[in-house]
Amino acid sequence: MMAHAFTFDYLPSEDLMELQPGLQDPACPAQPSRIPAYLASFDEARANVVCADSAATVKNALAAADAGSEALFEYLANYGTGAFEWHRAHLRAASDQDGVRHVVGYVDNIQDERALRWKAEHDSMTGLVNHATAERLVNHALADPEVRRSSVCAIIDIDDFKQVNDSRGHIEGDALLREIGVILRDNCRATDVASRMGGDEFVLLLERIGLPEALRRLDAMVALIKGSTAASPCTPTVSIGVYATGLDDLTYDAVIDKADKALYEAKHRGKNRICVYGAVQS
Ligand code: GH3
Ligand code: MG
Repeated sequence: MMAHAFTFDYLPSEDLMELQPGLQDPACPAQPSRIPAYLASFDEARANVVCADSAATVKNALAAADAGSEALFEYLANYGTGAFEWHRAHLRAASDQDGVRHVVGYVDNIQDERALRWKAEHDSMTGLVNHATAERLVNHALADPEVRRSSVCAIIDIDDFKQVNDSRGHIEGDALLREIGVILRDNCRATDVASRMGGDEFVLLLERIGLPEALRRLDAMVALIKGSTAASPCTPTVSIGVYATGLDDLTYDAVIDKADKALYEAKHRGKNRICVYGAVQS
């Protein structure tokens, strides 16, 4: 049976938190502890325990559970391990025999699970999300009609990458892939999807952006890629197929298909260029 890191019992009426250590987990609080004024003093008293980025998540989940909904959330906390680690809390409200309302739950340390999940979702070479994750994120993004109305998908393929491998070796080829990964990540916003499809192909979904602005950003990325010294003395170039998404594009496959056709056009017209689906190439 799995031992939870700890269980807790929170009394909203008194703002009192009680933590009970799990049976086997050496990390989490060694002694049962009672924390009065839990939410009232949270920002000062728990600053070293719950990571600042997770504070709102924890406080909101307690409030939501008190309001009646069951909650499951993940957050970063340091319960004596010396570093912030990922935890998952399950909580729900319940009333005791005296009718007093409690929010009860348990917490597990999921640091290893998060590390495994990160590995499963990312490309180990570049650190960008992998193909399967990109497909999931793009499908999720396209569920919003506003995103469909105003986003741009781009497929980027390195030109003559086989020659880079042949002339400079696979190690230099790998270095170029990694450098392009950094350039794409640094020039995308947190809301964009930047992924490595595999091989020398990358996919971006730039969300809520006009086509002219997307092309300006892609031009800037192309210039940085051309300046890469990873495959020196070769000057790496890329071909890019671009598709401005529309209200009818409900799936990843729908947008990739059109961006891929534009990429084919870019290669066909001589590489080292950007082609937009349904338009004269830029
Ligand atoms: P094109 O200009 O038409 O795109 O031709 P290309 O030479 O770039 O060839 P293509 O895109 O068809 O094939 C990609 C090549 O990328 C094939 C393979 O040798 C190489 N490749 C795929 N994955 C990796 C990798 O992880 N590391 C390295 N160094 N090379 C890879
Ligand atoms: Mg290529």
